[in-house]
Amino acid sequence: MVDFRNEVDDLRSILEQAKEVSLEFRQGLDHQRVKALRDELADGPKLANHGMGTIKALEMFQKDILPSLSASPGPRYFGYVTGGSTPASLAGDWLCSATDQNLSCPGDSAASALTQKTIHLLLDLFELPLDAFDGSFTTGATASNLLALLTAIQVMGEKYEINVCDVGLKALPEIRVFSACPHASMIKMLQVTGLGRSSWEYVPQIAQTERMDLALLDTQLALSKAPCKIVVASAATVTASSFDDLNKVADICEKYDAFLHVDAAFGIFSRCVPDLKHLTEGLERADSITGDAHKWLNVPYDGGFFFTRHISMLENALRVSAPYLKTHSAVPTFMNRTIENSQRFRALPIWMNLMAYGRQGIIQAVQQNCRLAEKLRSILGAKNNMEILCNDAPLHTVTFRGVFQGHEDEQNRMNGEFLRRINDSGKVFATPGAFNGRIGIRMALSNWLTREEDVEITVDAIDHAFQSTAKS
Ligand SMILES: *Cc1c(COP(=O)(O)O)cnc(C)c1O
Repeated sequence: MVDFRNEVDDLRSILEQAKEVSLEFRQGLDHQRVKALRDELADGPKLANHGMGTIKALEMFQKDILPSLSASPGPRYFGYVTGGSTPASLAGDWLCSATDQNLSCPGDSAASALTQKTIHLLLDLFELPLDAFDGSFTTGATASNLLALLTAIQVMGEKYEINVCDVGLKALPEIRVFSACPHASMIKMLQVTGLGRSSWEYVPQIAQTERMDLALLDTQLALSKAPCKIVVASAATVTASSFDDLNKVADICEKYDAFLHVDAAFGIFSRCVPDLKHLTEGLERADSITGDAHKWLNVPYDGGFFFTRHISMLENALRVSAPYLKTHSAVPTFMNRTIENSQRFRALPIWMNLMAYGRQGIIQAVQQNCRLAEKLRSILGAKNNMEILCNDAPLHTVTFRGVFQGHEDEQNRMNGEFLRRINDSGKVFATPGAFNGRIGIRMALSNWLTREEDVEITVDAIDHAFQSTAKS
């Protein structure tokens, strides 16, 4: 028999030990490899009838598993769009587990009220009107994009007096989704909603960017026979950091009565910075907005958010009716605004971050990343063996390629090899970027810890990898 009382008595030493392991990892982030030497594990112990106790399990984790984890919360992990986790948000995340609140329904805890407050704080941070927007926290931008589609479908149904959540999509006239460069997660969610991937109508992009050609969007909407139209605009795209002209997109959506969703997973943070605010002008006119906290807010996984002007439509789409789930609180019931019923107190790490660093702290981290990305871009751009691939809205992303011998296919192949060698250094981690069919390397600087010296280490790793790739 496991004596759980003993574990309760040992809680202090267990948490102290967990703290020590956490500190070892965090303090080693500068030196720990960003790409571990192995991503497989030796056969560990089988599931035992009698467990070893928490302290021993922690020791085993520290010895056998921790060294093979990536230093991804550290200053030189530039793959995807990866934020780190600030001390405030990490503490908030620990407390989220320690207090273990279930955010499904209000009525027993102030957790739902704090969640609502945190939504309002974010709306304030992004200068979005509090009286127009409301929202919820999600597992990330993918889930937020799903909420956007569910809201849009419900709004479309309303126009035809069809309650889609009761009768299903089949009762609704045809829906088409217009977008130039939707994130892969949006395409995935088209499938999840049952709209299907082929409901996406490609809007051609302006040359050398990933922005929608708005004259063509206008024509496409004018010609479309689909009675229900959703436009998915970007702020920003992953490879070129392209921002659609949201005011113009909103004008066109008004003209054709289309629902406007803006995927602003990371780009929304540029809105806090005075010099960059123009990039998202018109965002306040969207019907719904996707954002990610685990990217540029540097909050641990997982944390996304979703804002909409049609919160009652979202609540219609997702409402749960069971007698034991009825509440009489003035505070929202968040399970009616998210996919999950039971859910983490996701607002807490975000709230801690906002309380600890304030508006200026957020601005500073974003500006620092943009400044260092600009530095990296200009160092690489000045080398005759490197080429910057795309540079639409120079934000925090640098997409470049090595210039090797040979035709285009060979160049693409060599750049794949070049990327592999950069990552094998263990010092820097990047992911591929393709622009106009040309494959390169994409680095997104989204971590609050990244400093000048990390740019130097990165350039060094790139130079070494280039030399060895060219020789291979
Ligand atoms: C990252 C990203 C997503 C997907 O976000 P997850 O947090 O991985 O679910 C969606 N859209 C954009 C623009 C993104 O950058």
